[in-house]
Parts: sequence; C-alpha cells; structure tokens
Amino acid sequence: MNRRDPAIQIADLIADIRYHDHRYYVLDDPELPDADYDDLRRRLLALEEAHPDLVTADSPSRRVGAPPSDLFAPVTHRERLFSLDNAESPAEVAEWLARAERHLDRLVGSLVCELKIDGVAVSLTYEHGVLTRAATRGDGETGEDITANVRTIASVPLRLLGDPPAYMEVRGEVYLPLDEFDRLNARQAEAGDRLYANARNAAAGSVRQKDPAVTASRNLAVWIYQVGYLEGGPALATHFETMEWLRGLGLRVHPGTETVTDVAAVTGYVERVRAGRNDFPYQTDGVVIKVNGLAEQAELGSTARAPRWAIAYKFPAEERTTRLRGIEINIGRTGAATPFAVLEPVFVGGANVERATLHNEDEVHRKDVRVGDQVVVRRAGDVIPEVVGPVASRRTGEEKKWSMPSNCPFCEAPIVRPDDEKVARCTRGLTCPRRLREWLFHFAGRGGMDIEGMGYKTIDLLLSKGLIEGPADIFTFDAEKLLGLDGWGETSVTNLNKAIGAARDQPLGRLLVGLGIRHVGGTVARLLAREFGSMEALQQANEETLSAVEGIGPIIAKSVAEWFEDEDNRTLVSRLGKGGVRLSDPDREKGPEKTLQGERIVLTGSLESMTRAAARTAVEERGGKLVSSVSKKTYALVAGASPGSKLAKAKSFGVEVIDEAEFLRRLEHGTGALDQDISNSS
Ligand code: NAD
Repeated sequence: MNRRDPAIQIADLIADIRYHDHRYYVLDDPELPDADYDDLRRRLLALEEAHPDLVTADSPSRRVGAPPSDLFAPVTHRERLFSLDNAESPAEVAEWLARAERHLDRLVGSLVCELKIDGVAVSLTYEHGVLTRAATRGDGETGEDITANVRTIASVPLRLLGDPPAYMEVRGEVYLPLDEFDRLNARQAEAGDRLYANARNAAAGSVRQKDPAVTASRNLAVWIYQVGYLEGGPALATHFETMEWLRGLGLRVHPGTETVTDVAAVTGYVERVRAGRNDFPYQTDGVVIKVNGLAEQAELGSTARAPRWAIAYKFPAEERTTRLRGIEINIGRTGAATPFAVLEPVFVGGANVERATLHNEDEVHRKDVRVGDQVVVRRAGDVIPEVVGPVASRRTGEEKKWSMPSNCPFCEAPIVRPDDEKVARCTRGLTCPRRLREWLFHFAGRGGMDIEGMGYKTIDLLLSKGLIEGPADIFTFDAEKLLGLDGWGETSVTNLNKAIGAARDQPLGRLLVGLGIRHVGGTVARLLAREFGSMEALQQANEETLSAVEGIGPIIAKSVAEWFEDEDNRTLVSRLGKGGVRLSDPDREKGPEKTLQGERIVLTGSLESMTRAAARTAVEERGGKLVSSVSKKTYALVAGASPGSKLAKAKSFGVEVIDEAEFLRRLEHGTGALDQDISNSS
C-alpha cells in the first residue's frame, strides 16, 4: 500500500498526466503507451474518489483532451465535444447499460455498435451545405481552427448533396490509412525526420500542420459518426437514422454500423471486429456502443468528460511499459549474435511477455535502450514481441548503456562484426554449442528435413546426453538409449525412429535447406536440386557451373561452391549418406523439362540466338522433334530472319507461326506461355 500523503500523490499524478497530455495532444509525440497512460488516469480517479475534498476544478479527470495550442486560431464549439468512457469486458458494458437504464428509469430500446477509429476528432460546420469551418476538439470547449487543412482531405465534402440543413455541425474521426502511414514514416526516415509512433499520432500531426500542402500530401481520410449541432433538417428519432441521413448528404459514414438490442449481440459484434481487426486498412482501437434513441441520449446527457449514452469497448492493449532487466544475446544457426531484452514480466497483447527482440546492435543504439530503463513493449497479433523504445522521462540516471559483448556467452570465442555488416557473429563455427543447437533445430525443422518430434526439447536432451554431436548423428544414434529418460517410453522412441526413417527419403532440396548453406533457402535449394540432381553433382560443380544456372547469382554460387569445398562439410555429406540419407533425387529426369514432348517443329529462316543444330538439340532435349517440312501435324513453325516458302505453307495449313522470342519461351515453359503470332502482324 502506498502510504504517501494522498494530496502529494494526486499532485504528482496530475503533473505526470499533464506532461503526457502535452506530448500526446500538442506535440503528437507520446512517450507512454495508451494503456499505461490510462492507468495513471485510473489511479487519479481512485484517489479522487477516496478523497473528494482533494478534487480540484482543473483536475485532468474532469477534462477532455488538452487546451488548444496557439498555432491555430481558437474556435469555440457551439456544443461541447466529449471523450468516451471505457469498458474492457461484456460485464462492464452491461454495467454501463444498467446505469443508463437506471438513469432513464426504463429499458433502452436499441443500441448501435460502431468501429472506434483511431485517429483524431474533428468538428465540421456546414452552412447551407457549404463547409465553413473545421476544428479540432481541443479541450472540448475550445478547439483549433484547421479549416484550410481539412479542406485538402478528399473524403470531406466541401459542399453537401441533396437538401442540406441551414446549419449543421458534425463530428468525425480523421485518420491516416495504414499504407499511407507506412509511406509517411518511410519518407520521414529517408529525410532523417522523426518517425510517428502510430497512425493516430501521424493523423493528428498531419491535420495540425501550418502548411495545408503538407496535410494534402498525407492522404488523410475521414469517417463521420455524430451530429453535434443542427438547425433545420428532417425530424430524426435515432442515431442510426441520423447516420443514414448524413450518408445521403454525401458524408462518409462507416458501413459497419449496426443496431443491436442486447449485450450478447454487442459482444458478438466486438468479437467479429476484433478478429478482423488487422485486416482493416486503418487503425481501430475498439468499438463504440451508443444508445440509439436521440430522445434517450438527450435525457441521459453527459458527465464533465463523456456522454452517458455511449461507451468505448477498448481492445486489449498491444503496448505496455515495463522494466528492462537486461540485454542478452542469442547465437543463431549462422553464428549471428542477436540481442534480446530480458523484461520484468508484463501482460501485453493477451500474453505474458518476459523477452522481446531488439533485432541487432544498431537498433539498440538507435533506440538508445539502456539496461534499467522503463521500456515500451509491443506485442501485436502473433508477431514476436519487440521493444519499441525507452521512456526517457522516467530515467533515474542509474541506467546502463549496453554494448555487444566481445565474447560469445556460450563458447567464449570472440564475437566479431565486419565493418560493412549489420550483424556481429560468434567466430567459433559449428562447435559453438549454441550455434550447433540452432543448426540442428533448423536441420530437423519444417523447412528442412521436417523430423516430427525433433524440437528444441529433444535436441537439448540428445546433446546433453552426448547422443548426437551434429546432424549426421541423427541418423545413426541409438534411440533406444532414450528409453526411461524424461518421459521417453517405447511409443515415443518408436515414433522418433519412424520420423527419422521418413526423413532419410526427403527430397534433395530439403536436405540442402537443412544444411544451412548461406543464401540457400527453399527456392534456391529446389533450383539446385532440379539442376544437379545429386550431392555428388553439386560437389563437382564449381562457381562457374553454378552461376550458369538460371536464378543462381554469383553470390549464391560462391557460397555453395565454398561450402562444398570445405573438408568438414564433405565429411558431413558422406556421413549423412552412410546414415541412409538419400543424397539424390531418383525420379528426376536428366536434362531440361519436357516442355515440347511429342511435338513436331519446323524452322524457317535463321535464328539469332542459336544455330540450326543447336535448335534441333534444344527441341529434342525437350522431347520434341525438329522436322523439315510443314504438315497438318506440325505443332508450330518457327520463323527466323528471311523465312522461306514454309511460312506461306504453314499459314495455308493453319499451323501456328511463332517468332524466335516465343520459341525460346516455349522451350522453357511449353505452351501456355504468351503467344505471339507473327502471321497476324506480318
Ligand atoms: P478516446 O480516444 O478513448 O475516445 C474518444 C474519441 O474517440 C472521440 O473523441 C472520437 O474522436 C473517437 N472516436 C472514434 N470513433 C468513434 C465513434 N464511432 N464514435 C464516437 N467517437 C469515436 O478518448 P480521448 O479523450 O480522445 O483520448 C483518450 C485516449 O488518448 C486514450 O486512449 C488515452 O490513452 C490516449 N492518451 C494517451 C496519452 C499517452 O501519453 N499515451 C496521453 C493522452 C491521451
């Protein structure tokens, strides 16, 4: 329990909240995740509830947003703009609804569910259908005049359609589509400017520019969600009807708005939105639930901060702060030393997180993350948690800068980073136990030999018992020795043996991936396998023959050639063979694919890229025949330069005529490749 004087605690919290409000609302550059900021507010509210005598009139708990900056002319809103109260569970929505019904002393007829778009609130005034003013929310009473900027937003109509009322003020959310956000941050990075923390801050920053041309370049958009003030217009009974009317006037209203009658249906809506959340092309942070009847809304009214007739159901936070206990490194299968954060456990994005990636040494320095810092951790969807950055204002001076250790923590060998590379590496090679473990995991993994049951746990056990020392041992060790160890019984041993047995017959491409040759991923491995067909042929290939293969560049060719020149690697291949691993693809047909199987081809004129003899070989290798005269059975006539009489004959037989480029394409791909019939163009 915090025994400090509540008045001091309240004053501290208010100062803290003001600092973060300024960063968020005025500078568009928040330092804290929203969830942590919301915690500060919750703590303040709890203290104020326990000590009502300490509540001041200007407490942030009673205010919306922040006062407008002096960058823009102030705008006094005719009707106040509000924030929204939050719910985090169906039970809290039910409580909110019960409160509203108590207030009304009757049941609420229907509710509306809408997406909560994460952007920045704007108020738009239309007089006789013409946009006359756009303003930010500011502190709810006074906002900033951003008319010139908002006029540049394509989805904000400058003139309404149909029969607009004499005076109308509507509210909506200006947002930055996610692809525009990525583009903007890429441009900012290129220009060396600061990056926006998220699409919301980027939207707020974009709409509050001094130069409207800058706003225009950001490609903002808007969704309208409320009428604030109305003179004239039709009689409207519900929020839903109002939205339909606004849509008819040409305002952009979200199509996902739905009416529902109970909390169960609200929950269904929330779940659907949450499941599809990452598919929306814009950022959403929840669902807004509103009482549908406008008379009920008026009767419910508002508190100092928020309407009683609406509530925001917020999605679980994807960012939280926690303490960075330390930075450690892992050694990957290529020897790369990757720093990662060891964190005080924090619940974020629906899971407990204790570790988060820091990518590489440069990232740690670029973000200036120090051991002991409060850091922002992000975990969105299934993506690996990452450290976003430090909360610099919370530093005590005790934090320690980190640098890459000079020795590998697993084998003590020096860690070296060549000047021109991003990645530092352990120099021990495959005898570094950590690197070996990662390699084995990769070798046996999904992309490699795909040995079921051979995950980290089994690999660690086999290594620690000295049963294996490298990939070849997987095919020779005595699995019976596992019996009785750590839950290994007859069945699990039999299953492991079966999985290893099956792996012996994996295609050559998988084996090549598993070997972990630098630059050889799945596609390259399959190419090599198709082209060379066996380990033996690959071992004999040199850099030149390798790079002659279509799709294999000089860097890959060098890497492959060097790998096979290494004595240890050759031994490994031969030991794999002795362990029963198939080192070739038996069903591979020699030579190129039979793209022209059974086809008769006639050639007329001369080709630029090959002689007639070479053309004959090329066709024959692909299963076809080069014949001398055109008949009805001719598959195609290849017309080179200065074609002879065969051309006319082919045309008269209705035989397809192709040019040299198309011939080369057909050699490679067969029919189905793009046809180009020169008979039509000549
Ligand atoms: P809010 O964003 O939680 O909710 C109110 C706003 O939601 C409205 O003003 C409106 O702009 C928007 N909205 C989107 N879709 C809507 C819809 N369909 N219907 C109605 N409104 C809709 O509240 P707020 O007062 O704007 O800001 C509080 C938020 O800002 C909190 O999430 C808080 O964490 C964050 N904040 C963070 C920091 C920080 O340092 N990280 C500082 C200040 C505020």
